Amino acid sequence: MSPTNLAQDPSVLSANSFSAATFDQDVMTTYGRFPIALERGQGCRIWDTEGNEYLDFVAGIATCTLGHAHPALVAAVTAQIQTLHHVSNLYYIPQQGELAHWLNQHSCADRAFFCNSGAEANEGAIKLARKYAHTVLKIEQPVILTASASFHGRTLATITATAQPKYQKNFDPLVPGFEYVPFNDLAALKDVITTLDQNQRRVAAILLEPLQGEGGVRPGQLEYFQGVRQICDDTGILLILDEVQVGIGRTGKLWGYQNLDIEPDIFTLAKGLAGGIPIGALLSKEFCSAFQPGDHASTFGGNPFACAAALAVLKTLGTENLLENSIQRGEQLREGLGAIASQYSHLIAEVRGWGLINGLVLKNEAELTSIEVIKAAMNSGLLLVPAGPKVVRFVPPLIVSETEVKQALQTVQQVFTDIF
Ligand SMILES: *Cc1c(COP(=O)(O)O)cnc(C)c1O
Repeated sequence: MSPTNLAQDPSVLSANSFSAATFDQDVMTTYGRFPIALERGQGCRIWDTEGNEYLDFVAGIATCTLGHAHPALVAAVTAQIQTLHHVSNLYYIPQQGELAHWLNQHSCADRAFFCNSGAEANEGAIKLARKYAHTVLKIEQPVILTASASFHGRTLATITATAQPKYQKNFDPLVPGFEYVPFNDLAALKDVITTLDQNQRRVAAILLEPLQGEGGVRPGQLEYFQGVRQICDDTGILLILDEVQVGIGRTGKLWGYQNLDIEPDIFTLAKGLAGGIPIGALLSKEFCSAFQPGDHASTFGGNPFACAAALAVLKTLGTENLLENSIQRGEQLREGLGAIASQYSHLIAEVRGWGLINGLVLKNEAELTSIEVIKAAMNSGLLLVPAGPKVVRFVPPLIVSETEVKQALQTVQQVFTDIF
């Protein structure tokens, strides 16, 4: 493309006639996109450029905690951008301090660092664990264990942490210092730690999701996580939990780890924290907060705008009783999906999840894929997202109503009745 005179170029400002063909020529083809363009949202409803209405059970993938155009979020970000939206971390940022304080008061953490995404939060966690390993545990080549079918992001270190070959293919050499274990298998974890030890390779940290989201909506087992916590207590290995998808009330509890009756040493947040305004957070207990000035930084991280959005989301969790709603609507959804699953037991294996993160798991031997179900639901006005080829994921905004869950269930029922 040749340079243009911006002052005389009307195309820069007129984005009103959408063309998928032009879009596909201009934007890198990193995503397989559904053929609709979304334009406007209100609560749990969203409209495309053709004027079609959808019930949004994707919520930007478990991100729009308060749905779309929520008055509390709109008011907070409007007021903040009219006052001060961005300054450097060269200076104190009051909203950042307030957000860190809220998170520390309401979790097992003592300190927070802010960045802009889940991958970046996990990168921070990996760096923090490595620094702690080098300076406190005196491990020269620290190893971090992660679980198969996990998902931790798309940067080089986080695709290495993500123990799924499809995310790593053609991007090697990967980052050294990671080893994989099967999820929910304590005996295998102990074996791996022992084997590494015998080869003079010491484990510094174990990084896990409390419930694997992307990898198929697989809840962590209580005994497994309690066993992992015990190993960490006995050996000094750090337990890092990736709460990027399940934190902020998604599971019916504020934090995913509360479903497992354990506390992590370090955990990460992003998706739901600011309801769709980009933010990431790394939280840690005091004993392993090993960062010193100069160790880690982010230009945008924790700016007034993003922190004001997060504070509005956290406040609204309380004023609108959204943890309780997450529990109630989640039960309603699982019950309804369970009834559909027993009707179509030749196609559906099970329904699983916590709070408002749920998966409809298709049978391996059935030819049906999650994408086929999702396309049919989309054509009937319901947006859903896959979690792998066999799992249909339901992650609506936490404000979702009883009527909206009922409508979603009717659509899923109709999809299975009409098409399959
Ligand atoms: C989405 C997700 C990430 C990556 O977050 P980005 O903001 O896309 O970088 C990391 N971990 C988990 C568990 C996620 O669900």
